[in-house]
Amino acid sequence: MQKGIEIARGKTKVLYEHPGQLDQLVVVQTDAISAGDGARRNEIPGKGRLAAQTSARVFRLLNLCGLPTHYLNGGEDDDENETLVRRCSMIPLEVVVRGVAAGSFVKRNPTVARGTLLAPRVVEFFLKDDANHDPLISPDEIIARGIANQGELSVMMEIARVTFEILAHAWRRREVLLVDLKIEFGRLASGENKGQLVIADVIDNDSWRIWPQGREDLMLDKQMYRNLTQVDDAALGQVKSAYEHVAELVSPFPVMRPGMAAIFADGIEGIAQADELAMAIGQLGVPTIRRVVSATATPGFVLQAVSQMETTFARLIVLAVGKSDALRAMLDHATSAPVLDGNEDAQRVALQTAKLLGLEDTVLYGRTLLVQANLRSAVLQADAALQNQAPGTALA
Ligand code: 5GP
Repeated sequence: MQKGIEIARGKTKVLYEHPGQLDQLVVVQTDAISAGDGARRNEIPGKGRLAAQTSARVFRLLNLCGLPTHYLNGGEDDDENETLVRRCSMIPLEVVVRGVAAGSFVKRNPTVARGTLLAPRVVEFFLKDDANHDPLISPDEIIARGIANQGELSVMMEIARVTFEILAHAWRRREVLLVDLKIEFGRLASGENKGQLVIADVIDNDSWRIWPQGREDLMLDKQMYRNLTQVDDAALGQVKSAYEHVAELVSPFPVMRPGMAAIFADGIEGIAQADELAMAIGQLGVPTIRRVVSATATPGFVLQAVSQMETTFARLIVLAVGKSDALRAMLDHATSAPVLDGNEDAQRVALQTAKLLGLEDTVLYGRTLLVQANLRSAVLQADAALQNQAPGTALA
């Protein structure tokens, strides 16, 4: 990747301009690892490459789900440690989402036992200020200091929660508990969405706590390094092995699992609804097949078609469209795949379909969360308009 002049240097990464493309930057993750605001520092050869791979795969997953991020491409196996991102002005906050009590949260809340599940999730803001050890900062203080406005704070909290749930889902599918997560935001520096909030910085094995099988003693994240009582080659080698393992585990994060929605219309009068369903389901990224059948005139064909589909597609959702319930009842008895009533509102049926497939597909799970978040945002916006207040902002 071509790089222009260096524009910023952090503890574990360097940012360069992208020659000829001023709205883009190249992020290079280094082999450095540090803790205690830089008080402990080491180099782990190869860590930058693992970090870039991990971050690229996490960002690709978030992009696929439809979340706004700065990530464009790169960071993968053949890109060394380099990632191409959209240029933004960073907001000097660390946004932490917690699903399980650990770390600084239990120190600040001694009555909460370490390992307690936090529902609802806790979202906290920390000011990026190494000299003062990144202090906790309240939403009021953030607004008072002009760091972000109320609307931006709400959007950051919503995006941070959705990001946490998406990554928690991806990790859960690998028997790993996501304990907490730190992300950072920026405002896009140019383009038609100039000023839009996007998830920026990196999201790698330094950004979260992850406990395989829910066991803290099996941790695989940077806390291993923070906890070292003696930092020697053997200990750093163990930390590197954990980072390698994590980079391997996140490799399939942005991969969708093949699924299919089969829409059966009972007679030609069901075709218009079948088309609407196909459109709404397709918008969520689920492929569809449409068939026109008749529960009464072609029952053998219905059974044959559904059993063929069942043997072809490992993850099948069947939708029955028709005035009478005959087709749905027939399909329900003929297949072990879930059969949904396709006569309802197409958007609602599409969301149900994505939810079912999303049980085993983090991308679809994330897309359903985003649809729900945007529906919430639309309601709040409508209410704010009614009350004559500043409206909220949609997430994407
Ligand atoms: P805590 O506040 O409990 O120390 O950290 C909460 C979460 O944010 C943990 O997942 C931790 O790894 C992450 N975190 C906190 N501070 C930093 C930081 O300065 N850099 C990075 N990469 N992650 C941080």
